[in-house]
Amino acid sequence: MMRGGRVAVVGGSIAGCAAALAAHRGGADEITVYERAAGDLADRGVGLAVHDSRYVELESAGYLDAGMPWVQLVRRRWYVRDDAVTSPVGREIAVMPFPFRTYNWGPLRRELRGRLPRSVDFRAGTTVRAVLPGAGGVEVATDAGSAHHDLVIGADGYRSAVRAARFGDVRPAYAGYLAWRGAFPEARLDEPERWAGDDCVYAVFPGGHVIIYRIPDGAGGHRVNWVLYTAPPPDLDLGLGRDLRLTGPTSLPPGSLTKALADHLAYVADELLPPYWGALLRETAPDELFLQPMYDFTAPRCTADGVLLTGDAAAVARPHTGAGAVKALQDATALEAALTASDTWSQALARYDADRTASGRAMVELGRRLGDAFVRATPDWRAMDQSAMESWWRQADGSGAFGGRGLKR
Ligand SMILES: Cc1cc2nc3c(=O)[nH]c(=O)nc-3n(C[C@H](O)[C@H](O)[C@H](O)COP(=O)(O)OP(=O)(O)OC[C@H]3O[C@@H](n4cnc5c(N)ncnc54)[C@H](O)[C@@H]3O)c2cc1C
Repeated sequence: MMRGGRVAVVGGSIAGCAAALAAHRGGADEITVYERAAGDLADRGVGLAVHDSRYVELESAGYLDAGMPWVQLVRRRWYVRDDAVTSPVGREIAVMPFPFRTYNWGPLRRELRGRLPRSVDFRAGTTVRAVLPGAGGVEVATDAGSAHHDLVIGADGYRSAVRAARFGDVRPAYAGYLAWRGAFPEARLDEPERWAGDDCVYAVFPGGHVIIYRIPDGAGGHRVNWVLYTAPPPDLDLGLGRDLRLTGPTSLPPGSLTKALADHLAYVADELLPPYWGALLRETAPDELFLQPMYDFTAPRCTADGVLLTGDAAAVARPHTGAGAVKALQDATALEAALTASDTWSQALARYDADRTASGRAMVELGRRLGDAFVRATPDWRAMDQSAMESWWRQADGSGAFGGRGLKR
């Protein structure tokens, strides 16, 4: 096992907090987390999901626990609009098991941050400006000066400066469609009895779908959380620059959707979705709504001399995979395991890379396949029934990695 050493973690979000915990458990003496944001990270109040089997692994590895508020989902119901059906929820075309816990990003991240030992020096409001090779280690430069570390962990998200410093320009690829995301307090939900608390809803339409589930609100109640994926009509004013293939990943924060984007969402809600689910989307206020164009990429490797990438800095798979936060936490367990099993930094880096680069690639691949099945080349949903949906899903999921691959033991 590695003992001692100075580790820097760049980024103090989900991946950064988990990586700092991993470095501590793996034996590092001095751990500094550099987080650009001062104060608490701006919480968008939206959700993420963790497959039950991945939860069990992450709980036994010590990265999730029952003290982090969650909502248990059991099944997913697939609905399509059918004007011949009187029910406002539409026609149910299939029901499948859906063993997932849902979390609210804000409370989950706060809980992870709260689990860092006091010995970790968490420097909020500190932006890392440069990561440079130094004698027998790496220099991390901030506005306060430069510090030497044995290992620098890039947990600085999809625009990672650490990745750029070591791997150059890794350009995420625009997937050609958008995700509108929203969440609001459950109390505002009309006729809540139409939708069981442990149901995840997939309401599908030609060229897209919306996923709807409840998440904790962090104060003992629930929020209704949804994500709608579809391609915008050509020439729609996104307000994101002219060509998303060139601008690189970006998003529109709550309250800043262009009128054209809001109008397109209203069109999908009113004309393409079953009325109940369309009305639910319409309940979302402008400041509860934001937009994320879909991108994916993987860094060529997860490690280089003295540097290791984790979370979104290493790979971003489309959210259809249901495994973004899971991946960040799994990266941390792999880091802890690599540090524990190694005698030198370079051994630990090689172990981590062998595990996580392949895993990141597999999830990006799955995200692309699911994006095709769910958005870019949707089947004739209205012609589908339970057995047709089951075989369609088996083909779309392929490797069975939906919700994240199992942890290597
Ligand atoms: C404010 C915020 C809210 C989010 N809300 C949700 C949500 O509701 N649901 C969801 O599924 N996902 C959300 N995400 C994304 C989600 O956290 C990630 O997709 C995933 O969990 C992996 O996290 P990550 O830690 O790798 O990356 P991120 O969460 O993107 O974190 C990267 C961190 O690095 C910091 N950083 C970047 N550059 C530097 C630098 N040069 N120096 C110092 N610090 C730097 C950023 O401030 C950020 O805190 C959110 C991310 C952020 C930052």
